[in-house]
Amino acid sequence: MNREILAIDGSQGEGGGQILRTSLSLSMCLGIPVKIENIRSGRKKPGLLRQHLTCVRAAKAICNAEVEGDELRSSEVLFKPGKIKGGEYHFSIGTAGSTTLVFQTIFPALLMSDLESKVNLTGGTHNMSAPSYEFLEKSFIKLLNEHGFKVSTKIYRYGFYPQGGGEWLARVLPSNYLSPIMLTEKGSLKSRKAKTLTSRLPEHISERELRQVVRKLNWCLTETEALEVDAFGPGNIISLQLSHDSHTEIFDEVARLGIKAERVAGNAIKRVKEFLSSDAVVGEYLADQLLLPMVLGAGGEYLVHKPSLHTTTNIDVINRFTNNTIILEELEDSNFKIKVKGLNLISKS
Ligand code: AMP
Repeated sequence: MNREILAIDGSQGEGGGQILRTSLSLSMCLGIPVKIENIRSGRKKPGLLRQHLTCVRAAKAICNAEVEGDELRSSEVLFKPGKIKGGEYHFSIGTAGSTTLVFQTIFPALLMSDLESKVNLTGGTHNMSAPSYEFLEKSFIKLLNEHGFKVSTKIYRYGFYPQGGGEWLARVLPSNYLSPIMLTEKGSLKSRKAKTLTSRLPEHISERELRQVVRKLNWCLTETEALEVDAFGPGNIISLQLSHDSHTEIFDEVARLGIKAERVAGNAIKRVKEFLSSDAVVGEYLADQLLLPMVLGAGGEYLVHKPSLHTTTNIDVINRFTNNTIILEELEDSNFKIKVKGLNLISKS
């Protein structure tokens, strides 16, 4: 049967790569052909960069899609999905582009296969404006697994900008039963941790970052950890992790040349303070990333404070594909409840 092609405008709302990635995921999982136009037209370098191109090619390989426009800097992609095939895959970005974003694009489709999948990814693992490997593993995947998903990861080498070269493996197993994700109360704080990951840089950088956390958040030294990691080039990230009864939130800041360690830590600290002083249960980034697995899984609801443009744009794109499965309900004081109706496509029961 020839299905009508859904046209998605890549310049809507936030106008970034997420519109492309969400469209690819839903096209694969729902079997809907899609034409994504004006890709990343809201960005300084519009069109497909290596990370986005890898997403298109990875999606193509997994569901044997017919694709037009899969070239660097292309602003339009036509994607006609075929049958999803689990198994072993290797996707290499070729630059320090984010491997976690490639993973988030393809894992919902792999969950729909009856086979176990193993995906080896190479490229960036700790990027600005993307989930870090820590965020993916200890917040995003941990939360999904607590609701029945079966995903595990293992990192072999870290990949910082600009060298990249990070490598990790994701194992994705079909799920038997998924429960709705209900995050409407944080509950009590169970633990907190400030962790730095550093490669080929002087020790004082992580020491200065962690000192800021102790001073400005009043965390104990025993709640800090400085890890030296293996990467091709220099890099550093501070990762502030808060575990409540509900789930774990991670506030990362990637160090950049010319920005003082105190400022790098300060940015992450500021976000922790904002989160703790708000009524939000789910933080800004997890809020936009949970939508897709929830809508394909068993749904649920969660509370956010002032949804980001990434979140509202992702809701609009998902609602186009799924006939309005997500409702954003305004509560008091700029708090919002996001209600997701699950399509139950990625569990076997
Ligand atoms: P885009 O800008 O459209 O390519 O989308 C970027 C994605 O990265 C969104 O899903 C964001 O939630 C996510 N993201 C950006 N910064 C962070 C961060 N510091 N921690 C976790 N996720 C992030």
